[in-house]
Amino acid sequence: MPNEDQILQTVYDTSADAIVVIDENAIVQSFNRTAEKMFGFSASDVLGQNIKVLMPPYFAAHHDGYMERYMKTGERRIIGIGRIVTGQRKDGSTFPIELSIGEAKTSNRRLFTGFIRDLTDKQRVEQRVHELQEELIHAARLASLGEITSMVAHEVNQPLSASGTYLEVARELFNSHEEGNHAKGLKALDQAEAQIKRVGDTVRRIREFARKKTLELALEDINRVIEEANAIAAVGSKARNIRTTFNLSPLRPIAMVDRIQIQQVVMNLVRNAIDAMTGHERREMVLQSLVTIDSQLEISVLDSGPGVSEETAKKLFTPFVTTKKDGTGLGLAICRTIVEAHGGKLWYENSSLGGAAFKFTLPLVAPNND
Ligand code: ADP
Repeated sequence: MPNEDQILQTVYDTSADAIVVIDENAIVQSFNRTAEKMFGFSASDVLGQNIKVLMPPYFAAHHDGYMERYMKTGERRIIGIGRIVTGQRKDGSTFPIELSIGEAKTSNRRLFTGFIRDLTDKQRVEQRVHELQEELIHAARLASLGEITSMVAHEVNQPLSASGTYLEVARELFNSHEEGNHAKGLKALDQAEAQIKRVGDTVRRIREFARKKTLELALEDINRVIEEANAIAAVGSKARNIRTTFNLSPLRPIAMVDRIQIQQVVMNLVRNAIDAMTGHERREMVLQSLVTIDSQLEISVLDSGPGVSEETAKKLFTPFVTTKKDGTGLGLAICRTIVEAHGGKLWYENSSLGGAAFKFTLPLVAPNND
């Protein structure tokens, strides 16, 4: 029989999750083989180093603060909870990971064990992504928008074609000059009118429905909302080889938002950026949050893709405008609706990276002081 240590060693060596253990100073104590493969570092590269080497610079800069706060307050933000975050490989490329952290206290020290799952690996993550997308799509009513679209088409088509028929009948009746047909013709016109009014009513009802969408508002750490949305959007092979830089406000701004909906906006913008850069030589993306002089929160997604032609730029936010083979052309229209429902604005600019920049504002509640 193998002893307990041997069993543990086998689990550790063969785990499909990367396992990284750090001490209370965030110094890496162990780094298993899966972690080596996932991050491209060998254990000897990282043992004795700060865990920050596995994070993009923005998060690396904040990690000490997170650890310190936890040591002081014991308040759990990630330990025992698990979150989707962004990891950075040795070559500097970033990738989405699901991170759960466990804590162990030995007699004289505290150790933290990170279990890391690579979310770029499609098969393993399919289910997780599916769940997240279900939640997001559902909440952002993207699905119901699709339903609404076909409903509108149906609801509008039927009375329109009926009124067309009534009008044709009316013309024939008026042309026939037969007695009594004039009155029948007028009746057919009345019926055509009633059908057209029905179209008007339907359109009005749909508008009201769209307007009534209630927001589930809560105070949210916007940097975190952006990070999570990006990680979800970056799942899948298209996002490989894209270098993402986070340029998030150190004030850790807080806004009153419907998290799921704002994540939907960021995901949409990130996906568009990824689409635009696919097949493009330079593939860089910057996610930015900043507090403007007039105390607005401004969030931007910049890419180094081909940008938007002048012609497309004029109607970017018009529903059903798309240049993609399988596009719906609804993404940006929905994003703008969501942002405006939050009291913000969404617009397009040329990006300093050479491609597109989509920016939106949200009313700022306060910087996050903790
Ligand atoms: P879809 O993605 O389904 O086409 P969207 O409303 O999200 O719908 O986008 C509309 C169009 O705007 C896209 O088809 C594309 O032409 C253009 N577009 C959006 N984002 C970018 C971007 N980052 N770079 C270049 N073009 C973009």
